[in-house]
Parts: sequence; C-alpha cells; structure tokens
Amino acid sequence: MTFVITQNCCKDASCVPVCPVDCIRPVAGAGELTGTEMLYIDPATCIDCGACAEECPVDAIYYEEELPAEFERFLDINARYFEHTPLTMEVQARGDTHAAVAPGSLRVAIVGAGPSGCYAANALARVGGVEIALFERLPTPFGLVRAGVAPDHQRTKAVVEVFDPALTSRTLRCHLNVAIGRDITHEELLAHHHAVIYAVGASQSRELGIPGEHLPGSHAAADFVGWYNGHPDHAHHGFDLSAQRAVIIGNGNVALDVARVLLTAPDELRQTDIAEHALDSLSDSMIREVQIIARRGPREAAYSVGEFLALGHLPGVDIVIDSDDLEPQPGDDAETAIKLAIAREFAQRPQQPENKRIVFRFLTSPIEVVGDTRTEGLRVTRPGGETDVIAARLILRSVGYRGTPIDGVAFDSNSGVVPNDGGRVLGEDGLPVPGVYVTGWIKRGSRGVIGTNRSCAEQSVRKLWEDFDAGALTRVVGDQDALTSLLAQRVREPVDWQGWCAIDAAERQRGEQVDRPRVKLVDLTDMLAAVMSDSTTAS
Ligand code: NAP
Repeated sequence: MTFVITQNCCKDASCVPVCPVDCIRPVAGAGELTGTEMLYIDPATCIDCGACAEECPVDAIYYEEELPAEFERFLDINARYFEHTPLTMEVQARGDTHAAVAPGSLRVAIVGAGPSGCYAANALARVGGVEIALFERLPTPFGLVRAGVAPDHQRTKAVVEVFDPALTSRTLRCHLNVAIGRDITHEELLAHHHAVIYAVGASQSRELGIPGEHLPGSHAAADFVGWYNGHPDHAHHGFDLSAQRAVIIGNGNVALDVARVLLTAPDELRQTDIAEHALDSLSDSMIREVQIIARRGPREAAYSVGEFLALGHLPGVDIVIDSDDLEPQPGDDAETAIKLAIAREFAQRPQQPENKRIVFRFLTSPIEVVGDTRTEGLRVTRPGGETDVIAARLILRSVGYRGTPIDGVAFDSNSGVVPNDGGRVLGEDGLPVPGVYVTGWIKRGSRGVIGTNRSCAEQSVRKLWEDFDAGALTRVVGDQDALTSLLAQRVREPVDWQGWCAIDAAERQRGEQVDRPRVKLVDLTDMLAAVMSDSTTAS
C-alpha cells in the first residue's frame, strides 16, 4: 500500500523532508524549477507511514485505499512518474537557516504579500533578531492565492496556513494598503531597511500583437480571473456571456481554470468563494462551448496532468480533442506520456448531445480578432496556411503574464522581469545592487505553481544572508519608529494584520449567512469599512 499525491498538489514540498524513506520527487534545490507541475510518491518505496499526508498544507495526499473515485487515476500517475524517472537518493538539504542576529542589525522590507513574499517572510522569520516589514498594495494579503487560484480549488487556498507563524510573529509588521511608488518610494524603503525584497508578481497580461485584440469582447484572461475572484482592480469588468461559444487562446492552467469556471453549474460555484457579481452573471450565462486554442500540439500542451485529468470529471461537460497526434513517442517524459494517455481517453469517450463541451484545438494560431465595433470571432490559421473564423462574442487571451517596472529598479522589458542573479537584483550595469532582491514571478517569470515560490524565496533569502555575512548590509537605516511616522504622514488608512483579520471575519460572516465559505468584499471602501468597524468595536 502507498500514499498518493493528487491533483491539488501545490508543490510547496512540505511533505518532502518529513518522508522517512525519502520517496517524494522531484525535489529542487533552492531556486531551481523541476519542470513538473506536481510531486509524486514512489509506491515501491513508500512505507505507508502517512507523515506526508499530515504535513501537506492542501490535503492533496491520500492513502491508496481512501482515494476518492475522481482521484483513483493518480495511483497510476504517481507510479508512472517513477517508471520514467527512477528514484535516486540524492535530496539536497533544504530549509537550512542562519544563526540568530543581533537585534536591529537586519531590517528587511518585503514588498508584496502574495505567496512569494509570504514564503520569503517564512524563511526570514525563522531567524531570531530579524525585523520584517511586509508591504502590500491591497488591504488583503495572499496575492494569487486569494485572487488567482480558481474558486473551485478551495483546498489549495488552505496553503495560507503555512504562513501563519511568520505573519503573526512579533518580529513582522504588516503594512497593508500601502503602495510602494505611490505612498513611499523605493529610496525611502532603502533608507529604513538594510534589505528590500520585491515579491510583486507579474500582473500584466501578455499581448498577442494581432489586429482586433482590444475590441470589446476580447479580454485578457487575467481580467476574467480577477473578476470572478473579486479582485478590487477587476470587480467592475463586464463580460458578454450571451452567446453559446467562448474562445480561450493558450492552453496553460489558467486557460483550464477559466474554461471550468465558464461551464461549471451555478449551484456548484455557489459552494465556493467566487465573487457574488460573477456568480450572478455566470448564473445567466448562455455559454455551452469553450474552445481552447493552442498553437502547438498535444505533446507541448502547457496544462498540467492533474488539471487536465480533472476536466474529465466535470459533470455534464464533454471534452473534445481535435488532434490525431496522441500516440506516445520514445523520449516523451512521464508527464507528457500521461497527458497523451488522458487525451486519448477523452477522445474515445462517447459524447452526449445535451452536454456542454470543452474543445481542445491544437496547431491552431490566432491571427486576428474579427468584428467591426465588437468581437465577432477569431481568425485562426492551421498548418498548411488554411484559415478559419471561429465565431465567438467572448475571447479570452490566456498566454501568460509579465511584470511591471518598479520605480528605481532596473527592468527587462523583453522578458517582463527584474534582471537578477538568483534573486540579487542587477543594476543597469549588470552588477548586483546592494540590499535589493526579488522573488516569485517578478524574478523568474510567470512559471510554476504556488509552492514553487518556496524554493524560489529560499534562494533569494540565501543570497541576502550571503551579503549580510559578507558585511554588505551594514548601512545605517531609520528604525521602526521612523518608518511608522513616515507611513502615518503618507497613508490615510493603513491596515495591519488585525485589520486583515477584520476583513476576513466580515467575509466569513457574510458567507455563513448564505451557506458559503465566504462572500468576498470586492470594493476597497467596503474593506476599509470592515477594518474601521472592527477597530471601533475593539476600542
Ligand atoms: P502558461 O502555462 O505559460 O501557458 C501559456 C499558454 O499561452 C501556452 O499554451 C502558450 O503556448 C500560449 N501562448 C503564449 N504565447 C502565445 C501566442 N503568441 N500565441 C498563441 N499562444 C500563445 O501560462 P498560464 O496558463 O498563464 O499559467 C502561468 C503559470 O501559473 C503556469 O506555471 C501554470 O501552471 C500556473 N498555474 C497553475 C494552476 C494550477 O496549478 N491549478 C492554475 C493556474 C496557473 P506555447 O506553449 O506554444 O508557448
């Protein structure tokens, strides 16, 4: 018998060090990407102890005999990974830490309270004496866990519990609702901290550069994701759900999230924390078919095994695979072979005319969004130069994200990231800028799942410690009182950890009233009112 990792894996890898027989793979060194979208347990080595399942922050690990029906396939998927990549016993040490430092000798600002910033906070808060200031533009923490992870993936959101010890520690202060560049500058941050770590993500959608891309009805998938997740920047958007077909360009996991949300029954969505305005609109949606357009073939598909497999369990939805290139080839890696096997199974399933459909179209490149005053369809080209127009009133481009420049910090506008060496920010001259670091998507681009940010942050923090030990972070900086008085002059409505707890409680309470996990506040004014009403009650 064995334990089995399933779809929900966030790749945070908390399970890896607790496994007494070291049978969870792949394992990356700090800052390395392993190329897979999840972890696997070798069934031949697993001793059924269950330590991994207890440690998993998102409950993705099951005992073989207790696998829910929709996850049974993962028994085979875990085993197949090791057929392709036999277990070798060479795990790199991780989670190593630094000795405590003298109070006041290291003050670190982290900008961005998404998963990458929170993992950086975790790595630093382990060390006695480090003072951490965590800044976030919104009054709410957790970045993409709150505003990116699809609402039907509620268990993934539980990953935030791994940040609790750091975020509630006495050595960390949360400065929510404070924007660097608007409220205080990069230079002012440096004047009050020995080191600054930018963990600001990559919030801008990549563009396709095709005619008609910005016609009404053609949107970035990120706007749709932000809308259904109640992100204050996106809550006001409107999407035309009045036609039967929507088209998504790109076939990464974001495309699959969006397709699921578009086709999931409103009663199912109601069980989640999807924003109320989105639930209302989707309840009236006429969309019955989502076409997912990929410029390459099924072998190169960007979606992950677990997310692709899960589509097959969507009630009332058929999966149509428009490709005859589904046979494995020697040299395919484990995940590619599994994705092809799943695609073959989908292709052979009988379809029901009354069902909704997700259609995967491969080797199909977008060349124009057609329409006079609004989107009427997508012109695509196929191998051999054949073109075709797919009629649709809603087109979502899901082709990845790029970062936005940070005032005072170099930026590589080609790749959309801050130039860096393992997390050390490089200046225009290509040399490290003392005391400035990056982590997460602004460091490595929009690749990887939530837990990928853990080893990414640990790598950046390790660079910071190397610089600290080399005596490169000894500038005289303003203390916490000086920072507090600067913020008091600049920020009208600062929100601290307690303030976020008030927003969280208000949302959960609204949820309880309608039997939902939470009903999100999507407007900054309402969030700040929740903070105020809590502090008034407390005083
Ligand atoms: P992604 O995985 O990088 O996928 C981007 C897609 O856009 C690919 O299919 C890519 O095709 C296509 N594309 C790029 N440029 C294009 C162009 N000019 N024309 C046509 N197609 C183009 O990006 P993502 O879906 O935004 O996801 C970002 C990261 O978040 C990924 O690491 C993903 O796994 C992660 N994520 C994970 C989950 C989850 O675990 N549930 C959910 C959401 C996101 P090519 O491959 O041909 O370039």
